[in-house]
Amino acid sequence: MTSIPDISAAVEAAREDLISFLQKLVQAPSLPDHEQPAQDLVAQKLKQMELETEIVPSRFEDLKHHPAFGDDGFSPTGRINVVGRLRRTHTGEGRSIILNGHVDVVPPGDPALWVDPPWSGVIRDGRLYGRGSCDMKAGLCAGIFAVEVLGRLGYRPAGDILIESVIGEESGGIGTLTTIVKGYAADAVVLLEPTRLEICPVQSGALTFRLTVPGRSIHAAMKPLGVSAIEKFVLLLNAITTLNAERHRTFKHPLYDDPNNIAPISIGTVQGGEWHSTVPEEVIAEGRMGVLPGESTQAAREALEGAVRHAAGSDPWLREHPPRVEWFEGQFESGETPLDHPLIQELQTAHQKILASPATLRAVTYGSDMRLFTNHAKMAATHYGPGDVSLAHAANEFVPIEEVIAATKVMAHMLTRWCGGEFI
Ligand SMILES: [Zn+2]
Repeated sequence: MTSIPDISAAVEAAREDLISFLQKLVQAPSLPDHEQPAQDLVAQKLKQMELETEIVPSRFEDLKHHPAFGDDGFSPTGRINVVGRLRRTHTGEGRSIILNGHVDVVPPGDPALWVDPPWSGVIRDGRLYGRGSCDMKAGLCAGIFAVEVLGRLGYRPAGDILIESVIGEESGGIGTLTTIVKGYAADAVVLLEPTRLEICPVQSGALTFRLTVPGRSIHAAMKPLGVSAIEKFVLLLNAITTLNAERHRTFKHPLYDDPNNIAPISIGTVQGGEWHSTVPEEVIAEGRMGVLPGESTQAAREALEGAVRHAAGSDPWLREHPPRVEWFEGQFESGETPLDHPLIQELQTAHQKILASPATLRAVTYGSDMRLFTNHAKMAATHYGPGDVSLAHAANEFVPIEEVIAATKVMAHMLTRWCGGEFI
């Protein structure tokens, strides 16, 4: 086998190529529905690397019967995913793996908040800036170049290595869902999302809901004859706050940083009333309901609906005029891969051997495509990649270049550990 110093040296030798490819990818503004130029760059690169490269369009028609499908409001046909396969060429014992990354990015927001334009890809002080640099084009590049470098070293894997460059992650995951529905599979998956090189195999889910609270409007001068929907909403808000605290008091998981922030319930918008001197007729509030690891989305929905029902039951008006809870748009399940799974152990070892320090295991509070693999494809999966997620979706997003290089080295070594085979 090729030694770790050989792998590290080969990644260092590819450093310039890697960074300039990442720059080009960041400079392709791959907003939802406009991912094609970025995907063309990836496809071209994978073909250059002589991977078996396939263009896999996402079509709602193929996905709409799947329980995890959600219409993300963008083109129902023709947005493309790219899958590159380095086929197993060694007959020894090995395992297959998918390296998954999304090219879609969220809008850059107010351009005035950016020091450099959002699609600059500019490098300053060891950081590469731009929307999508951290979330998650850097991770995708680390995966691509890990495979490229192994190719340069004459690696022959004993299990297939797939690179999946997908669309639609930020809006619900139709890209990864397409690859699953089309039958792309492996023994394990690494999603190269920004984790600051921490291994994150546990994620909470989140469900978007709308709460409609009825009242009875009347001139404010006659208030006792009306019912303020805002005051009734406050009753329900208190019940929701109590539910959030109670769920966090009873649920324990060692990998979360903050035991009070595992799967938060949060109200994001409240609209109520039409006029300052009218008792408000209705409140419509929208929010997100966190889903705990191991909890079904159905159970999470019932928890919220139950708390609202219970609070309404103790109020004479709401008992007669029940508030309504509806679920819409993003419905992200939680996901989890057991910590004793070989994927986690091998990745821990690869990280330790390359970086000479133990890898931190952590759980994340946000949704991603991971749950599609763990819940709907029965594939073990984890997040692991360069960059800090707290910079994702923010102005002046960047990724530290040394982290991208480190991730590439760890991934290259991980692939040889996981897939077996030999160097020729
Ligand atoms: Zn992401």
